[in-house]
Amino acid sequence: MPASNAALVGSSRRTAQRAATVGVLALQGDVAEHLRAITATGARPVPVRRPAELAAVDGLVIPGGESTTIWKLAAIFDLVGPMRERIGAGMPVFGSCAGMIMLASRLVERASDQETLGAIDMTVRRNAFGRQADSFESDIEIAGAGGPAFRAVFIRAPWVEQVGPEVETLATEPRTGRIVAVRQGQALATAFHPELTQDNRVHAIFTDMVRELS
Ligand code: GLN
Repeated sequence: MPASNAALVGSSRRTAQRAATVGVLALQGDVAEHLRAITATGARPVPVRRPAELAAVDGLVIPGGESTTIWKLAAIFDLVGPMRERIGAGMPVFGSCAGMIMLASRLVERASDQETLGAIDMTVRRNAFGRQADSFESDIEIAGAGGPAFRAVFIRAPWVEQVGPEVETLATEPRTGRIVAVRQGQALATAFHPELTQDNRVHAIFTDMVRELS
């Protein structure tokens, strides 16, 4: 058994499974923070900058950052087509903040040349909660996370303005009532940044999805 799997022995249902390999799109944004959180769930994190690296992962995280920049870099690094193909073939994907924007099928306040991956049937409004100075934290209930409320960090965050019938709403922000966490099949998205706290429950939901679906 590889040393990296040794820590999983004795963790009941995961004992017989290999560690899932979870990629983090490593072009801009909260890459190191997502790599840390994935490690904490017992999965194997891998930064993804090239198509060959994308081909080797079981699931992909698109980090918080700046969605217009991430999109431009993804195009330059020839990752847009391969990401669309893998997502179309069922690869689990999780986007936080800018990553949520990247996964949307429709945007409000879209930059003129900005495209998206369309993995979740939803309309997302960029910068919906206001500017950088309007960033805030909020205690939210996340369906499936269990335990106490989740301290969610919102930084120039989007919200979900409308969802299609296949989309499950996992959390709303209590002050505004806006949808801030969703899942559609293989795709998970949060308007906030679970990677910026030490609470790894959202990443645990995602790595469980990766183990189940890959
Ligand atoms: N407002 C940013 C965007 O449009 C997202 C902010 C974030 O990821 N913290 O990409």
